[in-house]
Amino acid sequence: MTVTLGDPVVEELRRILGHDHVLTGKADRLNRTRVPAPFPVHRWAERMPDLIVMPGSTGEVAEVLRLAHAHRIPVVPRDGGTGLTDGAVPLRGGIVVDVKRLNQIKEIDLDNRTCTVGTGINALKLNEVLSRHGLLYPDDPASYPCSLVGGRIGTSGWSLIGSRYGHTRDLVLSFDHVLPTGRVIHVGDGIGRKITKSSSGYQLKHLFMGHQGTLGIATEATLKLFPKPEAEFSPFWAFDDYDSAYRTVGQLARAGVATFAGAVLFDEWKVAYLRRDDEAYIPQPASVKALVCAALYGYEDEVRAGGSRLMRIARSMGARYLGDEISQGDWAARHDRYATPLHGRTRSGQVVPMSWHCEDASINYTNLPAVRLAWHEIADRLRRASDVFDDWGMFAYTNGATGADYLTEIDIGIWEQRLDDAAWAAWVSAKRDLAAVALAHGGSISACHGSCREGEVDLVPEELGGGFDVMLAIKRALDPHNIMNPGKYLLDRAYPDQDGSP
Ligand SMILES: Cc1cc2nc3c(=O)[nH]c(=O)nc-3n(C[C@H](O)[C@H](O)[C@H](O)COP(=O)(O)OP(=O)(O)OC[C@H]3O[C@@H](n4cnc5c(N)ncnc54)[C@H](O)[C@@H]3O)c2cc1C
Repeated sequence: MTVTLGDPVVEELRRILGHDHVLTGKADRLNRTRVPAPFPVHRWAERMPDLIVMPGSTGEVAEVLRLAHAHRIPVVPRDGGTGLTDGAVPLRGGIVVDVKRLNQIKEIDLDNRTCTVGTGINALKLNEVLSRHGLLYPDDPASYPCSLVGGRIGTSGWSLIGSRYGHTRDLVLSFDHVLPTGRVIHVGDGIGRKITKSSSGYQLKHLFMGHQGTLGIATEATLKLFPKPEAEFSPFWAFDDYDSAYRTVGQLARAGVATFAGAVLFDEWKVAYLRRDDEAYIPQPASVKALVCAALYGYEDEVRAGGSRLMRIARSMGARYLGDEISQGDWAARHDRYATPLHGRTRSGQVVPMSWHCEDASINYTNLPAVRLAWHEIADRLRRASDVFDDWGMFAYTNGATGADYLTEIDIGIWEQRLDDAAWAAWVSAKRDLAAVALAHGGSISACHGSCREGEVDLVPEELGGGFDVMLAIKRALDPHNIMNPGKYLLDRAYPDQDGSP
């Protein structure tokens, strides 16, 4: 069922939330039809919600879900709308629950080192307040200024400094979660909000993370805090070839330096793209073919000692240190790189506006070189098939402090305005091929964004095996009418007796 103006459901929503917090205007709806992931412009209207609600409390979210459950209306949670797997995009109309008004800091507990916040707040704003207390919430994605805590939970996000502090799933201790029926539960360890380890019962916190809004809505979260680091060191090194850079990043990640927060490997395609089309990039001599950067955080004396060790390792591998200015500048720009207007090139070299697709598989260190070659081959095929695609190169980011696996990213520029149906079909097929390469190399389709997009989603049952059947059973048990984000993750298969609509 969808909702239309004048419908008693709309009146009921206005009674629950107040007139101003039920948005029905075309601009409000259009603003929530998409996320930054490229999609054919001529098809945007297919993804319009019927209306948007902006609740101000957990109780209001619960009332909205109770109503939607009773009337079988689709509901899509939305926070910052920066997700790159279409999670916050409504595929069946219905209600978008935009949680941005849940942005209060409810408590900062200096002794237990936690804070409790509404899930509509972002880490940038939160850290402005925490820094007055000498504290940091270190969930640090490239989308740091614009993604919000609820979206980080909904995607189970990945942090650029996760090798030191952990990722979203490690940093969110517990949260209030509204189930699809409107029932409110609290998930996390222990009966309070601030326990970090418990062995009682199922580990439900993890079930209600990364579900892309298909199992309900997180409204209030308790987060783990750390001392604000006294020092940061972010050395940047240049290499004449990919293999040397690859070997070096492995050595750095495996060194066991306690302040090591992460390292990033840039391949030749990435360096060429930055050199060609990124105005923020500081030019390097033509001999530079690959780059590695690392980041260390902590007290000054420990960062100095750890930094010296990493510098020694890199030097012994033949790396050329690029100097303090470039090093600090590039790391400082980590939240900005994709916020600037983007462009790419057609095959003839013509500059055209392009949007950004970011593939984000998890790949073991030993498989990075093979995945890199296979992915660039797919990108090359795509580029030859249609002039609306451009290969922007690859990054590999350490995931944890041991260097076992990497968030492996290929960036593909897509001229979104020229994505006709044929180009879109070529893209969906390539997307499936990219995901298949990750699985063929023992990886996961997604390290951080999720795997809901057309093409990749077909392979999720293969990645999860029998676990996918468990996922279907959980979905059906918790959301009997399939109201939460219907159409995502092939979860319609949980309802063989329905046609897919709630
Ligand atoms: C420039 C750029 C850089 C990025 N860099 C990174 C990065 O380094 N690391 C990374 O992990 N991601 C990155 N991303 C992707 C994106 O920022 C993350 O996926 C982020 O976690 C999404 O947060 P959001 O608030 O924008 O959520 P949204 O896009 O609004 O929602 C994401 C998903 O969560 C669901 N959801 C939203 N709110 C809730 C809630 N309260 N309860 C339950 N489910 C909810 C939505 O339905 C949707 O399925 C980047 C994106 C961009 C545009």
